[in-house]
Amino acid sequence: MTRIIDGNEIADRITADLEPCLETLADAGTTPGLATVLMSDDGASETYVSMKRQACNDLGIESIHHELDPDAPADALFDRIDELNDDPAVHGILVQLPLPDHVDRQAVLERIDPRKDVDGFHPENVGRLVTGTPRFKPCTPHGIQKLLEAEGVETEGADVVVVGRSNIVGKPMANLLVQKSDTGNATVTVCHSRTDDLAAKTRDADVVVAAAGVPELIDGSMLSPGTTVIDVGVNRVDVSERRSEDSQTSSDQSDTEKGYELVGDVEFESAKEKADAITPVPGGVGPLTITMLLYNTIKAASLRADVDVSLP
Ligand code: NAD
Repeated sequence: MTRIIDGNEIADRITADLEPCLETLADAGTTPGLATVLMSDDGASETYVSMKRQACNDLGIESIHHELDPDAPADALFDRIDELNDDPAVHGILVQLPLPDHVDRQAVLERIDPRKDVDGFHPENVGRLVTGTPRFKPCTPHGIQKLLEAEGVETEGADVVVVGRSNIVGKPMANLLVQKSDTGNATVTVCHSRTDDLAAKTRDADVVVAAAGVPELIDGSMLSPGTTVIDVGVNRVDVSERRSEDSQTSSDQSDTEKGYELVGDVEFESAKEKADAITPVPGGVGPLTITMLLYNTIKAASLRADVDVSLP
């Protein structure tokens, strides 16, 4: 029987485990603060930021929000980051991606104080991750590690195929999984848009992490029986294109009413027939991503306050 991995349930458990960390910080006189910066009119970006802010409020992390006009000069964003770097009430800074074309994304990520870089995208934090001394693990791959751990999926010696090589998901995922650690020690293959015969790679895998941003790229015929399938993809698909299809994996009624459905990078129905365990979209990886942002914000505050909060 295939296990459908409940990301919400795992995220709730980790969030509950974060509460005592906040109490420890409160005893030391610190309330963690997360600054979110939105420079976009994009509806999905607005939704992601509001979900992150809500999660902060629910847990007791102070949420400080800044919005910039997408047409504002890049310097307006750099100046805002400088202010947040200097603000003692701010422990973590998250600049929501993507940014407008006229803003150099890498320069923005490098402007953030690495000690406040709760996304883990600053080169200093990337370097620490690669060398096995992470400060902030990027939220989505870290969440996947937690999810695999919670599900009892053994990574040691496992053949893991990561589909996607972005700096946000694919590369840090691969780096975490090859580390010499209890949640690593895997043999990792990284596939991407130039990979020859993706199906041959995924069929050899014990675990597939799909992060390509291509709707239903991987189906059951590309998997061997017993694979653990982690679907990172969040793709908005026009409802009219899918009206005749079985939409078991699609998003809720409110999204359907908006004219789109959310689908993953995995074709859920056929993959479920082969997989030992599989994450749905939505309700799989997504909730963990937000939880690990809270985790990193608490970590940033504890490092600054020099208080051991015993993070889960
Ligand atoms: P990206 O576009 O930056 O990278 C996609 C990667 O997939 C690239 O490295 C590319 O080489 C590879 N790729 C593209 N087509 C491919 C193909 N046909 N075969 C093999 N590889 C292919 O995207 P990203 O930021 O890494 O995000 C990937 C997906 O994950 C997106 O759908 C995104 O929305 C989603 N995402 C979800 C969460 C979450 O919390 N659930 C977080 C981040 C990203």
